[in-house]
Amino acid sequence: MLGLMQDWPLLVHKIIDHAALYHAQRGVVTRTLEGPIVRTTYREIAIRSRKVAQALDQAGIKEGDRVATLAWNTARHLETWYGITGIGAVYHTINPRLFPEQIAWIANHAEDRVLFFDTTFAPIVAQIAAELPRVKLFIALTDRAHLPEIPVPNLVAYEDFIANANGDFAWRELDERAACGLCYTSGTTGNPKGVLYSHRSNVLLSLMAGGVDGMGVSGRDTILPVVPMFHANAWGLAFLAPMIGANLVMPGAKLDGTSICELLETERVTMTAAVPTVWLGLLQYLEASGKQLPHLRRVVIGGSAAPRSMIETFETKYGVEVIHAWGMTEMSPLGTLGTLKPGLEEQPYPRQLEYKVKQGRPLFGVELKLVGDDGRELARDGKTFGRLKVRGPAIAKGYFRGEGASAFDDEGWFDTGDVATLDEDGYMTITDRAKDVIKSGGEWISSIEIENLAVSHPAVAEAAVIGVHHPKWDERPLLIVVLKQGATATRDEILDHLSGKIAKWWMPDDVVFVDSIAHTATGKIQKLELRKSFANYRLPGVA
Ligand code: AMP
Repeated sequence: MLGLMQDWPLLVHKIIDHAALYHAQRGVVTRTLEGPIVRTTYREIAIRSRKVAQALDQAGIKEGDRVATLAWNTARHLETWYGITGIGAVYHTINPRLFPEQIAWIANHAEDRVLFFDTTFAPIVAQIAAELPRVKLFIALTDRAHLPEIPVPNLVAYEDFIANANGDFAWRELDERAACGLCYTSGTTGNPKGVLYSHRSNVLLSLMAGGVDGMGVSGRDTILPVVPMFHANAWGLAFLAPMIGANLVMPGAKLDGTSICELLETERVTMTAAVPTVWLGLLQYLEASGKQLPHLRRVVIGGSAAPRSMIETFETKYGVEVIHAWGMTEMSPLGTLGTLKPGLEEQPYPRQLEYKVKQGRPLFGVELKLVGDDGRELARDGKTFGRLKVRGPAIAKGYFRGEGASAFDDEGWFDTGDVATLDEDGYMTITDRAKDVIKSGGEWISSIEIENLAVSHPAVAEAAVIGVHHPKWDERPLLIVVLKQGATATRDEILDHLSGKIAKWWMPDDVVFVDSIAHTATGKIQKLELRKSFANYRLPGVA
């Protein structure tokens, strides 16, 4: 017997309609690429999204067509998402930090029909436009006065494009399982793979993430997503904020510590989210300038492990609560969030920190398990490492065009490629990406844990640990360090700092100082590159 409740499809454009009606005066503040700070309400965004939908419809874009965006976080970018999805087309966010050849490859693989782009990326578009035969319209997210002069056919300014539409347009009736968004994973090995979100998965993720023990935001918050919309849906914030009526502050192209601090201050931002490298920049700026963060209450850190020292600095020096989060593009992207369980709040702070450093516990709708090499499930004892598998309604069940099928098993589990532990309370700790794991004498060493400790040394800005060949142990850890500007430290000082805090056999065999460490397009340390650079590194004592 079926229930007698309504089949109200979970469609993302219902979010902007809700916001227009019930949070009409809340909205989006954008640091525009043209320069000025511009304010828009959700009511205006809903109207302009309909114009985008109508104009795309008039341009012949059909349900299921992919429409690419190569853009920063701005109100216009948000309007394109709601407009594209409102006609049943699929917004395809492309990471502009990729090489132009990769961008062209991805746009062709996705068979994008239209490309919305920010003027910052005009040189990229000029370079690749001829290689994108399927793109019939290039739309610069600006007005006619700022239209870049590039030799690209069918180039139009966004404001002109939507000026042709009157906004009298009804959203399409769609199946909630219809494709809605497309985002390619960074693909450190092999070609990037497309994750195809549905309306249902995007709405569910927002509902899942919205709770107090999720992102912990309400309609009274002002949220600054530094995390780009091209990095896995801006972690759901572009849907969650209008859903609950929180204001959004969009930073545009300026993501440096000074610019972010300025927005946090002038817009009285209460919650923000980004990868650790962004916070490294902000904390360095705060330290140098002596500024405080009087309005900010909460920061979500994910994408890479948040070091203990970073969490502690935010919380104790600036009074900002840190929520450490883990997820993946394939998970819409949130999986776990590090909020405290009952009883932990009364514990002394150092004990709480032990939990905050972990990657958190699963949201409802995220199943986690650890498996060994034989595929059998491992203990949830907080000690046993295994490959982390996940399952849930906002998690991919395959990649676009059937690629990477081996990551999905018959029981619907997706292999994250992460190695982790799970404790009895459900807190998960990532040890490494499986391909970054260091195997010494047959035992695993966690690079993340050593990196975490290394950056707690006052002179260290950033650290990476990689496995280097060793004749006896197969691999031994090498610690690569970037020092803070003007700071000094020796190899032995760094090793002394680690000594006693990790098992003796985890101690790096050597420390190398470098000026900078390269990051991927989504802000992760490029371990593959480091391993290549140090492939012939000879550890002390090795002949
Ligand atoms: P992406 O799809 O670009 O978001 O990358 C997902 C991967 O980033 C995960 O599989 C993890 O390896 C890594 N990751 C994300 N969040 C964290 C975190 N809090 N700590 C450690 N690694 C993380």
